[in-house]
Amino acid sequence: MRTYEASVVTPDGPVYHGEVEMVIAKAKSGELGILYGHIPLVAPLEIGAVRFKKGEQEDLVAVSGGILEVRSDQVTILAQAAETPEQIDIRRAEEAKQRAERRLQSHQDDIDFKRAELALKRAINRIDVYHHSR
Ligand code: ATP
Repeated sequence: MRTYEASVVTPDGPVYHGEVEMVIAKAKSGELGILYGHIPLVAPLEIGAVRFKKGEQEDLVAVSGGILEVRSDQVTILAQAAETPEQIDIRRAEEAKQRAERRLQSHQDDIDFKRAELALKRAINRIDVYHHSR
């Protein structure tokens, strides 16, 4: 399969760069699988694992939302936060998960509830990506 360049960039700098055959990401509109030659596209992403595939190899990056852009045979993901499995501090993610769960169990207004829900999603995503790559 033909390959192309894919990268993940955050405000703190680049997180991932690779020559890939396919990028699989969860967009707000559903799952996207991007092959070489895909038409230009901009899509908002959900909090989730983005998969970069080349042959038998698959790299995972935990992405906390953001935008996926397909342009001139390149895929760029701009994310507020993103980590490769090696960058994930599993203890921090477990603690964030517990904190968010506690907040969700207590009675709160809608805004705090939504924030806790998103924090829980980010933590679970990091935990999944960390364990998936072990
Ligand atoms: P926490 O409550 O632990 O800060 P969070 O989901 O609120 O988690 P974010 O706001 O998404 O954190 O991210 C802030 C910064 O910290 C980003 O640079 C992100 O990559 C990094 N980060 C957050 N959690 C982890 C983690 N478990 N391991 C490594 N880096 C993390």
